[in-house]
Amino acid sequence: MIKEMSPEEFYLELPLYSKVSWERTGIFSAAKLLFYVGTIDCFCLECGKPSTFRSERTAIPAELTEESYKRELKKIAAVSPMSGGSIPTKPEPPLIKPDIYLSAFSCGRNYLHKIQFLYKVQNEITVGESKKEETAQFLEKIGQYPSIAELSLPEIKKYRTVVANDVYSDLAKGIGLAAHDVGIGSYVYLRRVFERLIEDAHILAKNNSEWDEDSYQKNSRMAERITALKDYLPEFLVSHSSLYGLLSKGLHELSEEECLKHFQVIRVGIEFILDQEIEAKARRTKIEEASKAINRAVGLVKGNA
Ligand SMILES: [Zn+2]
Repeated sequence: MIKEMSPEEFYLELPLYSKVSWERTGIFSAAKLLFYVGTIDCFCLECGKPSTFRSERTAIPAELTEESYKRELKKIAAVSPMSGGSIPTKPEPPLIKPDIYLSAFSCGRNYLHKIQFLYKVQNEITVGESKKEETAQFLEKIGQYPSIAELSLPEIKKYRTVVANDVYSDLAKGIGLAAHDVGIGSYVYLRRVFERLIEDAHILAKNNSEWDEDSYQKNSRMAERITALKDYLPEFLVSHSSLYGLLSKGLHELSEEECLKHFQVIRVGIEFILDQEIEAKARRTKIEEASKAINRAVGLVKGNA
């Protein structure tokens, strides 16, 4: 199966800690992937758009190529008729040295944007029917940066410019875990994001001289807090504040299924808040540009007068 794997599948889709094994003759396909020389298409989190990444390797180790093995076989075939007596045994295909290997790729737009992968190669000794020990090999992906969840979530990439890095990372982790049916874990990450965004709205509200902080602090329930912050939160959240009552429940009160079910509600709430932030940011930029243009025009008129 390693023979059919594309470099994109090998690097971007293979989950952490899943094992890929191969027969001895599969070594050349495995080496081509592990020491891949070429490009893969992947979303670049730093450019904020799809890009082509080039591997930093320039060659597969010579002894692990099919060509060099074939040359070896030819040499032996050429030597054996003349050697008389014992016929040299056909060499087995080579093995990849058991070790940890790092594969790094650089973004085509900026070589400092990197994606990196770690693989561990191990030997497995089995005793075949002929009672002879046979060495098979397998590998595991043991690390990657950025995480699969972050790379596979371009649909939330538009929020990267309006939230802090740690908030974005929690959001990506939560969505990534939900994609793997991990209910409680995904819920915890999204809940952190949601509470953080509500707190951001609260900080904004406190700047208003008419804000009643004391009564806000008395509202410990999330639904009440959302209602109190109605001027700072999207209409959808305020009119559906009861949906967010669940956030006041302790984690121990929720089942895995409940968490997965409510995950979507929280995600929608987060997206509404962040969409509003994107709009506000675009409006601010437009106003700034307009006032700059007006100032320039006024300056020009005055200069001409
Ligand atoms: Zn890039």
